[in-house]
Amino acid sequence: MGQKSASSSAATKVSSFVLLIIFVTLAVALAALVLAVQAYSIGNDVVAVYLLFIGFIGVALSTYVLFQTRQRMMRLRIETPPITTTIECKKCGFKNVREFQRGDYIFKEVEPCQKCNEKMLITAIYREVREKGKTSFPY
Ligand SMILES: [Zn+2]
Repeated sequence: MGQKSASSSAATKVSSFVLLIIFVTLAVALAALVLAVQAYSIGNDVVAVYLLFIGFIGVALSTYVLFQTRQRMMRLRIETPPITTTIECKKCGFKNVREFQRGDYIFKEVEPCQKCNEKMLITAIYREVREKGKTSFPY
């Protein structure tokens, strides 16, 4: 729980770092492939096979990681579910659900109950996860 805002800038920072690593790995892998061809042309078959192996693993690994990161980034971009705050009246049990507002925290006293005018408390703050064709409300 917690860590609601300021995660998007950190995500882009991390992904650019990952992209750099992928780029370096890819460059090393391609260099290994070029060296493999050179070693083969010289007649050094064993070294050529090793370099080819390193090159292919590097390419496969960086492609895989790139694919994973792209997927994660797309998911982050598409899904930004709203944060919901649940307010409950301790006296009559009246429940109200509204959008999260800055400064909301659990057990914070908010506006009085619409039914009995008693003070209401925030009982839950959560991010709504929307599934296709479903609502997250169990009631
Ligand atoms: Zn009430």
